[in-house]
Amino acid sequence: MKIGILTFQRAYNYGASLQAYALSKALKGSSEDIEVSVLDYRTDKLNDAAKLIKSGEGLSAKTAAKIGFRLLKHRSFNTFDKRYLSLTAPIRDWKVFAGTNSQFDALVVGSDQVWKDDITGSDPAFYLEGIKSDIPRYSYAASFAGSEEVGAQVLKNHRSELEKFETVSLRENGYLSNFAEQLSSPVRRDLDPVLLLSQNQWAEVASPRLIKDKYAFMYVVGPEINIRKFAESYCKKYGLKLIDNKKSIEFLKHCSPEDFLSWIQNADCLITNSFHGTAFSVIFQKTAFYELGQGEKRNFRAASLLDSVGISGREIVSDVYSDGEAVVDWALACSKLDAMRENSLSYVKAIAEGRSGADTSGIKCSDAGSNCSNNPAAQLPRYYVGAHGDIEICKHSSSGGAFTALTDAFFSRHNNSVIYGCAWNENLEAVHIRAVDESGRNAMRGSKYIPSKLGDSFKHVADDLRHGRNVVFSGTPCNIAALNKYIAMNGVPTDRLLTISFLCHGVGSERFFRDYIAHLEDRYGGHAIAVNFRAKSQVGKIQDMRVEFDNGKVYTAASTNSDWFYSIYLANLILRPSCYKCKFAGGARPSDIDIADAWGQPWIDGKAPSLLISNTEKGQTLIDDVTGVMSLRELPYSRVKQPAMIHHAEKPLQYDEFWRVYNEEGYLSAQRLFGNNTIWGKARAAAIRVVDVLGVRKLLKR
Ligand SMILES: Cc1cc2nc3c(=O)[nH]c(=O)nc-3n(C[C@H](O)[C@H](O)[C@H](O)COP(=O)(O)OP(=O)(O)OC[C@H]3O[C@@H](n4cnc5c(N)ncnc54)[C@H](O)[C@@H]3O)c2cc1C
Ligand code: SF4
Repeated sequence: MKIGILTFQRAYNYGASLQAYALSKALKGSSEDIEVSVLDYRTDKLNDAAKLIKSGEGLSAKTAAKIGFRLLKHRSFNTFDKRYLSLTAPIRDWKVFAGTNSQFDALVVGSDQVWKDDITGSDPAFYLEGIKSDIPRYSYAASFAGSEEVGAQVLKNHRSELEKFETVSLRENGYLSNFAEQLSSPVRRDLDPVLLLSQNQWAEVASPRLIKDKYAFMYVVGPEINIRKFAESYCKKYGLKLIDNKKSIEFLKHCSPEDFLSWIQNADCLITNSFHGTAFSVIFQKTAFYELGQGEKRNFRAASLLDSVGISGREIVSDVYSDGEAVVDWALACSKLDAMRENSLSYVKAIAEGRSGADTSGIKCSDAGSNCSNNPAAQLPRYYVGAHGDIEICKHSSSGGAFTALTDAFFSRHNNSVIYGCAWNENLEAVHIRAVDESGRNAMRGSKYIPSKLGDSFKHVADDLRHGRNVVFSGTPCNIAALNKYIAMNGVPTDRLLTISFLCHGVGSERFFRDYIAHLEDRYGGHAIAVNFRAKSQVGKIQDMRVEFDNGKVYTAASTNSDWFYSIYLANLILRPSCYKCKFAGGARPSDIDIADAWGQPWIDGKAPSLLISNTEKGQTLIDDVTGVMSLRELPYSRVKQPAMIHHAEKPLQYDEFWRVYNEEGYLSAQRLFGNNTIWGKARAAAIRVVDVLGVRKLLKR
C-alpha cells in the first residue's frame, strides 16, 4: 500500500514540518507493508514561505540579518525533510500529477491550514481534484482555522470534491457540525498530528541537549502582550538563562526542527504563545506558561487543547511572574491525551488499511463496496426475536427485557461499566441518569413517552470514556445521533462505547403529560408518585397505564383507547414537531443496537417478545452474548413488521385544530373533543380512520 500525503511541507516552520513528519510516521507505524511519501507540491502562491527575501522586503542591515538566519534555517529544514520525509519529486503542475498518478493507492490531505483558501488561493489540489475516482481520498485534521465564514465558503465552493472523500477529518471544532450535516461522507475531528506521537518517539528525533546552562525556552510566534517581560522575571527569580527563539544567538545557531524539539525537551520551563509550543509542552510534560490572548485574538486551539487535557491556571496574565500557579496533574493529562490519541490513531490505522475510519467498529471494503462477502459489516443489520427467561424481568420491562439482558451481558463482559438511560426523578420528570450497578440500571426500565432531559449526560459519557470506562448509552435514535456528534466534535475515543436505541414512534408533549397527571391528581385526590406506561397489568396487553398516588390509590387503564394520554399520543396529536419528519424512520440507524416490540410475533410462555437489531459488529457481539438468556432466533427482514423502520408519524388532519383548542380552551376541552375515549371522540376517530382508509386525506387537506 502506497500512501501520499499532501500538506504544507515547505512552510519552513516547526509546526508544519513536525506535523508532516508525525502523520507519515503514524501511518507507517499503523500497518505493515506500507510506504508513505509526502508530495513535494510547489505553487507560486505557497512559494513565498520558501523565499529567502519575502515580497515587499526592502534591503537593509536588519533584512540582511534576517536573510542570514533564514538561510541557516532553510538549510536545516531541507536536511530534516531529506532525512525524515520521503518527499516525491517536485510536483509543479497538479493537473498533470492528478491525471497521470499511478504510484499511490490512497491520498491524504492535511493537516495544517490546507483548506484555508486565502492561503492556497483556493487551489483545487488541496481538495484532491482530478484524482482518479478509484483512488481513496482522506483528509486528516485538515483546517480552515475554524472560522465559520471560511468553513461555509469551503463547503459551498468544494462540496462536490469533499463528497468524494472516504472520510473528512477536521482539526478544529468550529463548523464541524455543519460539515457533518451537509456532507454524506463521514466527518470527524482529529488531533493535530504532532500529538499522535509519544514523548519517546519525539525524543528519538530531538537533538542532544544544546547548552549546559539551566534555561527557560521562550517560543513566540505573532504578536506578544506580556510574555517577554514575564519570561524575564521568571528567569530572574529562578536564576535561569532565557533562550528566546526571536533573539537568542544560541537559538539562531541551533534552529533545526530537531533542535527545536531539544530546546523544549531540555528546558526547565517553556513559555509560549504558540499552539505547537503548547502541544509539545504537554507531550514533554514541561513546566510551562502560556500567553493565550483575549477576545477574537485568543489562541482558541491552544486553550482548548489545555482544557481537554485538564491543564488550567498556567496562563500569563501579567508582565511579572508571581508564585501560586496551579500544579498540573500529569497522570490525568496523560490519560486524557492517551485516550484522544488512541481515537485518532484508530482512524490513521483505518486509512492505512483502506477503511473509512468513520466508525472503528465498521469496515468499509474499498475494493468491493458494501456487498463484499469478506466484509462482516455487509451482513448487518441482523434481526432477532426473543424474551428474557426470567418472567419477573419481563414484567418490569417494556417488552421482552432486551435492555436488561444486554446491559447484564455488558456488566459481565467488562469491569468498570457505566450505563446511561432514562429514568423517572422524584418530580416525575423523565431524565437521563448514570448507573454503575443493577439497581441503578433497573430504574431505567420502562418506556416513557415524553422527552428525556439529557442534562450533562453527554459530558459525563465523555469523561467516563476518557477515563477508560466501558459505557452503554441508551435513548431515542435522535439522542444517540446527538451523542455521536458530541463525541466526534470533542475527539472522545469510542471503542469503549456501545449505544442502544429503540425503534421510535416519537415522544409526546411534556406539557400535555403534566396536565394529564394534574387532572388525575384532582380525580384521585392525591399526589402522583409513580407512573408506568407499560404496566402489563392485563394479560395480553403491553401498553397500559398505571399511576400511583401518595394516598395509596392507583389508576390503571388497561386498554390504550381508554387512557387519556395514550388516546391523544397514539393519535399523533402531541408528538414533538421533529418527530413528524424524523430522519431515523426508514433512514440510517445511529446506534450499535436497536430494541423494539416484536409486533406480529407470538408471545413466548406468556411473555411479550422483544425485537433486537444489530447495526454494527460491536452490537452483534453483545447480541450474541444474550442469545441463550433470551432464547433468540433470527428473523428475515421480510418478517419484521415495524412501521417506525419505514416511515415517520404523520401529522393528523385535526392537528392544528387540536392545538388551537388546547391552547385556547385548555386540557379538558382538548381531551374531551379529541380523545377517542368518549362517544364523540370515538365517532370522530372512526370517521378519520375511514377517511384514511379511503385515501382521501390529501384531498381533504387541500
Ligand atoms: C418514546 C418511545 C417510542 C417508542 N416507539 C416504539 C415503536 O414505535 N415501535 C417499537 O417497536 N418500539 C418502540 N419503543 C420501544 C419499546 O417501547 C421498548 O423500549 C422496546 O420494546 C424494548 O423493550 P425492553 O423490554 O428491552 O425495554 P425496557 O427495559 O423497558 O428499556 C427501556 C429503555 O428505553 C429507554 N427509554 C425509556 N424512555 C425513554 C425516553 N423517553 N427517552 C429515551 N430513552 C428512553 C431507557 O433508557 C431504557 O434503555 C418506543 C419507546 C419509547 C420510549
Ligand atoms: S421520532 Fe425521531 S425525532 Fe422523534 S424522538 Fe424519536 S428519534 Fe427523535
